[in-house]
Amino acid sequence: MSDPSLDDALQAFVGQSAGPATKGRYPVNEPMIGHWVEAMGDFNPVYVDDQAARAAGFPGVIAPPTMLQAWIMRGLRASLEADAARDAGVASADSPSDKVMALLDGAGFTSVVATNCDQHYERPLVPGDHLEVSSVIDAISGEKKTGLGVGHFITNRLEYRDQSGELVATMRFRILKFRPGTGASASVAAEAAAPRPQRPRPALTQDNEFFFAGAKQHKLLIQKCSSCGTLRHPPRPSCATCRSFDWEAVEASGKGTIYSFVVNHYPQVPAFDYPLVIALVELEEGTRLVANVSGITPETAAIGTAVEVAFEDFDDELSLPVFHPADETRTN
Ligand SMILES: [Zn+2]
Repeated sequence: MSDPSLDDALQAFVGQSAGPATKGRYPVNEPMIGHWVEAMGDFNPVYVDDQAARAAGFPGVIAPPTMLQAWIMRGLRASLEADAARDAGVASADSPSDKVMALLDGAGFTSVVATNCDQHYERPLVPGDHLEVSSVIDAISGEKKTGLGVGHFITNRLEYRDQSGELVATMRFRILKFRPGTGASASVAAEAAAPRPQRPRPALTQDNEFFFAGAKQHKLLIQKCSSCGTLRHPPRPSCATCRSFDWEAVEASGKGTIYSFVVNHYPQVPAFDYPLVIALVELEEGTRLVANVSGITPETAAIGTAVEVAFEDFDDELSLPVFHPADETRTN
């Protein structure tokens, strides 16, 4: 259960500085930029080639914006010394940020994970800029139930300034401090016993309703302009060829080929099986539609594969076309 006195104690820290400002160990410099872009595989010439940078309207080479945090990292040795001091119990834990952590640790929220990082850049950084960062506790959420466990989100706002005090970037960094053993893994058995969630419903409109009504009757329908006869999909109000709003539906043969496909691995929605092959099927009538393909794996899926439609009744309300390789014998 949420603890109001803990919430009050946490909220008192919002707006406070998370700790003293930190100055970057090195100024922005070309050697570090060179190593970074090679490690990241970023070959934009404005980071390494002065002429290319000038041609792009910059005063000279600039640092990749996403290098922001690199310019204030304290380095390995200082990190090891800080770790050793903490292990020896000599680290001072009196910054507001440390106190928030201690409060949450004391209430059992002992695990931590970083969840969001949003950066906003005011101007490109150039060699010679020497950054300093200060941090403010921006927000602390009430108790939330998450997949990892019950916990509180803490957002810090970090302001990066150059040697003249000008704000060059802002970063909001959010962590979740959570109570171990209270997340989804604790209820795996309960989830396994629960029925499978239904497939997401299509968003029905007066333009596309006929398509799904047809699927329920195991018919694959295509919109056809009543004026000029042009077929179209996805459904829409008017004909792109003659602008007519009059249309009718015609039944497709259900034969086609895989025009393109993707294999979806993440994010995973419980109603689907993964890896999930999703194809853009070109029907022999000429229109294309997005559909699942069964009887095919990521390894055997190929552009140009002849496919045929079948219909799957997912539940009482939803039936959808699912294609399968045409050489595969099916009874439905
Ligand atoms: Zn038309």
